[in-house]
Amino acid sequence: MGLLDFFFPKYCVSCKALGSYLCPSCFAKLSYDIPYTCFVCQRPSLDGQTHPGCQGRYTIDGSFSGIAYKGIAKKLIYVFKYKPYVSDLQTALVELLYESLIQNEAFIKLLDQQFALVPIPLHATRFRQRGYNQSEVLAHGLSKKFGIPVIAALLRTKATKPQAKLKKKERIANISGAFALSPSFAISLPAGRQANIMFVDDIATTGATMLEAANVLKRAGAKKVWGITLAKD
Ligand SMILES: [Zn+2]
Ligand SMILES: [Zn+2]
Repeated sequence: MGLLDFFFPKYCVSCKALGSYLCPSCFAKLSYDIPYTCFVCQRPSLDGQTHPGCQGRYTIDGSFSGIAYKGIAKKLIYVFKYKPYVSDLQTALVELLYESLIQNEAFIKLLDQQFALVPIPLHATRFRQRGYNQSEVLAHGLSKKFGIPVIAALLRTKATKPQAKLKKKERIANISGAFALSPSFAISLPAGRQANIMFVDDIATTGATMLEAANVLKRAGAKKVWGITLAKD
């Protein structure tokens, strides 16, 4: 036990066992059975792809997730938004997401196409309150693992209410017009790469946030847009 652990002992976020923020037995209880749905119609979808009939010109192409958003995963995502957990949890959560992604054949196929990772941004006010953006933390972790660049392609121009507290229709209205293209987007795409984007966020529920963000980037010329979330509701 290090000196810091002595003064600030770590407890499992779920069962309160001393030693780490997620103990091995709670880690083993996480569900990898992702309830994949099409973000447009909310019906089940293989590998999280948008159904061909639901795919529009500016629609997200699909999404991937690491774990199912239930039980212990809910507690994990909750504390990941608060210091001091982030620095200790990020390595474990990135590893978890990475391991889940590389076991997904549909995701592995996409890696050949060369993507840039784009974290879903927080509004400046919330960023100041929190001190960091958990989506950025995940994106940079995955960037190191896959050797894929991270681009801050989007700005959050509207201070939205937390999506989790709203009903589906309210979510769409809440997030509508929330994003704008970052002025650096066009010039920061690596030369020779197609403008393929993988959004990174902590959780997807109805996918309203990703649909809105994909709309902005596809209108700006992105070819394929997918989402990666740590957890899927
Ligand atoms: Zn535990
Ligand atoms: Zn659909």
